[in-house]
Amino acid sequence: MEVETDNLSWMSQRIRGGEILKYMDGSRDFIAAADIPEKLRLARPPDGARLRGILAKSLAIQDLTLEETAALIQVTDPDHLALMRDTALKVKLKVYDNRIVTFAPLYLGNYCVNACAYCGFSRSNSDARRKVLNADELKKEIAVLAGQIGHKRLIAVYGEHPRNDVDYIVESLQTIYAFQVKTRRGVGSIRRVNVNAPPFSVEDLKKIHAAGIGTYQVFQETYHQPTYERMHPAETIKGNYLWRLYCMHRALESGMDDVGIGALFGLYDWRYELLGLVAHTQELERSLGIGCHTISFPRLVPALNSVIAPDWPYLVSDADFQRIILIIRLAVPYTGMIITAREKAAIRDAALAMGVTQMDASSKIAIGGYADCVSAQEKTKQQFILGDERSLDDLIRDLAARGYITSFCTAGYRCGRTGKCIMDLLRQGTEGKFCKLNAVLTFQEWLDDFASAETRRAAQPVLEQEIREIQAKMPSAYEQFRGYYERIKNGERDLYL
Ligand code: SF4
Repeated sequence: MEVETDNLSWMSQRIRGGEILKYMDGSRDFIAAADIPEKLRLARPPDGARLRGILAKSLAIQDLTLEETAALIQVTDPDHLALMRDTALKVKLKVYDNRIVTFAPLYLGNYCVNACAYCGFSRSNSDARRKVLNADELKKEIAVLAGQIGHKRLIAVYGEHPRNDVDYIVESLQTIYAFQVKTRRGVGSIRRVNVNAPPFSVEDLKKIHAAGIGTYQVFQETYHQPTYERMHPAETIKGNYLWRLYCMHRALESGMDDVGIGALFGLYDWRYELLGLVAHTQELERSLGIGCHTISFPRLVPALNSVIAPDWPYLVSDADFQRIILIIRLAVPYTGMIITAREKAAIRDAALAMGVTQMDASSKIAIGGYADCVSAQEKTKQQFILGDERSLDDLIRDLAARGYITSFCTAGYRCGRTGKCIMDLLRQGTEGKFCKLNAVLTFQEWLDDFASAETRRAAQPVLEQEIREIQAKMPSAYEQFRGYYERIKNGERDLYL
């Protein structure tokens, strides 16, 4: 495992101990303080009355405690599980109605100075062909994403490496936002770029924030420190558990509005990771006043050259994966929940009924994969294999058939409904008012610009139902909405309320 000398000096300057210690209460981090093993050990399946009490809190959009979450993990009674599923769907509908937000992942580079045991991009994988997109290559990717597929939101993914450093991130965000491309009836562009990147210092995070980032995403991978240390060699940056654990504290301090957390389920016992996620969002609320905007729950798949063998004891079954999704929805009722195309279509479709709010589609995870600047051989060397290869058009048609409207709305971020403001609106169920109006406007725009005839037909009943509901439930907003809607139909773009 060799590291270039230049990289060594860059690596040695990344971690700032003071930006960990200042957030810690004494010598124990918040995960150690949460005492998750003890909570799991003491948890018992709740009887009917206790279960209904816990679920009433979820329905009132209140966070569950770690003890309550641990109790839900213990539920095996089929009737109780059915009640949990029923409540999770009600919570989702109360906060997010029947909207699903779609996005695309965009991998900008696969250089990495780390050596995570489960990852094909590890620096020790000499088989991986390394690449970072330059500005022209990036524009080609956006031309496809915004001009042919019709995405408005990305999760831009950056490795931890000097070639993907903060200046590269800022420049790439500027390139993405500035790029416009002609569509069937208008102009397409990316309107919100969420960033999945390594942990940064407050100083670097301020620069990324100023470039107009949407959500800043960093996944802890595993909250179980001994497993974390086993998976991430100590001499790497990622080997520092606390630097990663406190990166969202730094992000919120730096002015970031929305942060997204996640765990790579399958590295350690899923029950522990689930409580770790809940403890993390509660810690952010307690110490910085804002919970997490989104939670992601990727599931580990053994990778090429990885130490994770198919008989690894913590790999998560489909049944347990569904329980994870269900319990996150109930424990953190206001949060956005992302299920990516790592999962098969059937798993993703089932997750809709358990409260998922965001899905990707037409996804490519090879570097340069959208503009097809990659060889078939490189495509086999991606970080993981996709389970759901539906196009955005296919996914939207499937969602419409189930009664879901796809929202391309990015208005909240652009008119200040972010951070604590959006959290409060979500808890009160008030954000839905804007979201419902903007979902219809942006959906109509996408249908006119990108949809196949078949998808336009499938979407029509959902669209008409939404418009009827707006007229009936929001009469004071209807007239303005109707005006905007007609302007969109006449070819104007990017109108929002
Ligand atoms: S998981 Fe991320 S940090 Fe770890 S080796 Fe892969 S790309 Fe690098």
